[in-house]
Formats: sequence, C-alpha cells, structure tokens
Amino acid sequence: MQANITYPFLELDRVNAPYINDIKSAINRVVESGRYVGGPEVEQVETTIAKLTRVPHVVAVSNGLDALRLILRAYVATGRLNEGDEVIVPANTYVASVLAIVDAGLRPVPVDPDPVTHNLDAAGVESHVTPRTKAIMPVHLYGRVCWSRELAEIIQRHNLIVVEDNAQAIGAKSPAEGLFGTYVAGGLGHAAGFSFYPTKNIGALGDAGAVATHDKEIADTVRALANYGSYRRYHNVYAGFNCRMDPVQAAVLNVKIEHTDDENAARFARAVAYDNTIDNPLVIKPLMTAHVTDCVWHQYVIRIPQHRDAMQRFLASRGVATDIHYPTPPHRQPCFSETLGGLKLPVAEMLAEEVLSLPISPATSVKDASDIARIINEFKP
Ligand SMILES: *Cc1c(COP(=O)(O)O)cnc(C)c1O
Repeated sequence: MQANITYPFLELDRVNAPYINDIKSAINRVVESGRYVGGPEVEQVETTIAKLTRVPHVVAVSNGLDALRLILRAYVATGRLNEGDEVIVPANTYVASVLAIVDAGLRPVPVDPDPVTHNLDAAGVESHVTPRTKAIMPVHLYGRVCWSRELAEIIQRHNLIVVEDNAQAIGAKSPAEGLFGTYVAGGLGHAAGFSFYPTKNIGALGDAGAVATHDKEIADTVRALANYGSYRRYHNVYAGFNCRMDPVQAAVLNVKIEHTDDENAARFARAVAYDNTIDNPLVIKPLMTAHVTDCVWHQYVIRIPQHRDAMQRFLASRGVATDIHYPTPPHRQPCFSETLGGLKLPVAEMLAEEVLSLPISPATSVKDASDIARIINEFKP
C-alpha cells in the first residue's frame, strides 16, 4: 500500500552512526568492568547533566515517565504535596505527563495551550488556579521552552511547585529567568524529568531518564524511591521501586550528551530549511526562533486545518514519511474517560486534528528538508 519511502521519518541507526565506535567502546568498558548496576558511568551521566542544566542535584533513572512520577512521589513522601492536590498540565502533551501525576495520587488539571507555541501560557494557567492547585508541570513541547516572566510571576504568586517535563528539550534555553536564576530547560523550576528514550534529541539504545532538581531533599528522596525505598542497604524507609539507570545506557549517554549542542544545532538547520521553503497557504508553520537554543526542535510540527490527513496521504504517496504528535489528547484516552473524559479542551482537540510532524532528525539532510518542503508546496486538496 505504502509507496517507497524516500524520506524516512526517523532512522535511529543513522542518528547514532557518527558515535558508533565510541558507543561500542563505552559499552565494552561496562562489559569488562564487571559492574552492572550503578557505578562510574551512571555517576558521570549525573555530573554531566548537572553541569549542562546548571542544577545541583541529578539522579539518573530508568526512563522519563519514572523520572516524573518519582519527583511527584517524592513531594508526596516528604509531605510537601498531598493526595488530591491539583497539578496544572498542558492538555496537549504526551500521555506520560498525566500518567505521572495520577500515579502519585495527584489530580491532573489539563489546560488548553496557546495554539501558536503549543505550550501553556500565563493567562491559561492563571484562569485554572484554584485553592487546591499546588503544582504545575510545564512541558517544553517539541523542544520549545514553556517559560516566561508572566508565568514565573503567577507561579510565585500562588506558591506552586514546578516540575518541568523536559523529555523533549534537553539543551534548550529560556528567554526568561527560571526560579533559581538560570535559563536552561530542566533547571527553571524546582525539579525536572528528562527522557533519553531512543527517539529523543539525545537518545540511549533503550530506556533511560533523569531527575534534575534544585532541592536536595527531593533528590535524596527520589534516589531512595528509585532504589527500593532505601537510603542504605536492607533498610527500607519507603515502599519504593527499582528505577535505576542501566550503566550500559549510561555509557551510551556519556558518549552522546557531550554533543547535545551539535545535535540541537543540526535540528535547527533543518527547521530553518523548512521555514525558508514551505510556502503553501494551507499550511501553518511553527513559530520560528531567532536563536539556535530558543527551541531545540524535537519535532517540526506544521498544522494543516481541514486537510491534515489528505496532506499526510499525499506526502506518503511522494515518499515522505510523517508522524502525528499526538493524535489523541490525554483527556480523550480510554484510561481517563471516567476522570477527564468530560472535559472540553478545544485547542488541544483542534491541534490533534491538524498537526503533522515532518522529519527533523540529523539523519534527514538539510537538502532533504528543502525537498520535502517543496513537495508540501505542491499539495492541493
Ligand atoms: C517521551 C516523553 C515522556 C516519557 O519519557 P519515556 O522515557 O518514554 O518514559 C514524557 N513526556 C514527554 C513530553 C515525552 O515526550
């Protein structure tokens, strides 16, 4: 059925090809070390992320969802959040953001995003704050930082705990100062979850994630929760989990994290090619950014009101693979039908019908991006 694919959406082997020899020797180091849980590779990932994000405490964990749910469970375990507290979250995020909130016994409050940035904005957040709102989870969707002076003011006025979902924005910088005086995504709020799922800007060869936080008590509690609930062996303070980062994945990440800025710059170059060449009146392009680090382009997402599915079929017929992030917003997922299913979130629902993600990884050349843009310009419904 599918025509031949000339322009694949994301070829992970090609994304990793520039690092393959270093990755093999890094994995080999772990194999020969005899140390297969924890150890120096995992510690190095933590140090590197702390430096990159300018946060004092980092805990390497098993994946991005675990990073987020461990942070929220740490706030509950330390009595700083309580069961049933409301957590503001964008309505158009990957479902994992909401799963983490629910897992910790908290109440997700999905808020419609700004349709231009696809992110939460200050006005939307402010109108959903109630006396029960205790936290907010900004998601830097598609690599674009969700932060502004206005948002920081609302957060401070209502004394909210900020847990960033930084799964998609490693290395991005905020135009406005974070709560702790820094500008790097993942260091703007009190704590942040990172994902190194293979498709992310910096991906492992399997699942991996990290928690970064300015709060030592939260870091210590996350570390304990991720290690059966114990600070020391055979003494369990919490009924915890096993959510540690695998040292083989840590070794892979120690090769790749160093190249975060280069990887992000490569994505920016492809975004520029799309932005310069796409010129079809049916297409709404994503907001272009002035600086390489304003948005790290985890996805390049166009909108095609009315004709998204026809555009996707047309591109497939011309050999261009695309994807949709995301076809169903969390509040419309069967698992949340009882709790969130009644909500009307028109912007999130509209975006789910209109968005289309184009190939943006370094495995797609800048020329290929220009070629794809010209094919998009040929589309007529
Ligand atoms: C990928 C992702 C997650 C989950 O990370 P995993 O490592 O896949 O568990 C959470 N939130 C967002 C926005 C993501 O893109």
